[in-house]
Amino acid sequence: MTINLRWLGNAGFEFKMDGLTVIVDPFLTRPKAHQVYFGRVAPDQAALQKHIPRCDHILVTHAHFDHCMDAPEIALRTDAIVHGSANTCAILSAAGVPLNQIHSISAGDSFYIGNIRVSVLPAAHPWLPGYYYAKPNPAMKFPARLRDYRMDACYSYLLECEGRRILIWSSTSSAGAPRADLLTCRAVSSQGWYAELLGQVKPKVVIPQHWDDFFQPLSANPRPFFASPRLGFPPIARIDLGEFESRIIKASPGCRVLLPEIFRFYEIDFFANSDKGTHRQCFRVDKHR
Ligand SMILES: [Zn+2]
Repeated sequence: MTINLRWLGNAGFEFKMDGLTVIVDPFLTRPKAHQVYFGRVAPDQAALQKHIPRCDHILVTHAHFDHCMDAPEIALRTDAIVHGSANTCAILSAAGVPLNQIHSISAGDSFYIGNIRVSVLPAAHPWLPGYYYAKPNPAMKFPARLRDYRMDACYSYLLECEGRRILIWSSTSSAGAPRADLLTCRAVSSQGWYAELLGQVKPKVVIPQHWDDFFQPLSANPRPFFASPRLGFPPIARIDLGEFESRIIKASPGCRVLLPEIFRFYEIDFFANSDKGTHRQCFRVDKHR
């Protein structure tokens, strides 16, 4: 089975599999940093129309603006069905998305889209200033204030199709991760965290998520966000993807790290060979220009 994927910036990924376009956390609207606290922000319709011409399903991990705010616009234009928490569904409804395109889900649920089985897993979210955990604002108006995208629950997703497994791991905890062939996970964590996560997932390919500075315009090459302040020099530095890659390889030496260019299609082929009765799996990543 072949899977085509694109990284859409931030935590956004598009998967083309089983004849469907499934998008996780689309966020192409790049606000200015001060807009986290001030003013209202409309989705970047030009960017969404250019880069997301079609979509069948959207999986939202949680309702914060950098994961959820572009989902209503895409759903209204493409008729995609959006799957998300109660807060995500309330935001979609307030934005005018028809109820038959809104699917409320909870951790522990599993459901099918086409032949793809989607499992909803609980995820731990870090505390961050400006990002709220609360009930939805019943008076939410659009364009909305970014602080109105309030989170209730956060989810990871496992997609299974024809025996292959893709894990979108949104959690800051490494506990309880299932096995998968392809893993996307946070780009900044300790060596021990990656060792624990990869020891459970045993992926063949790992892709970092949520590492770029989404306050920069889409026209610019993605630049890493600042990592959390740390003891040592320098105390504040940008996320280092080279360090991510080396930690992944050290945690799982047979693993491939894919650092996709934004909006570029990658074709991932899964195939298996039988060798003297033992089942051996190979993996290939091809870039599509
Ligand atoms: Zn968040």
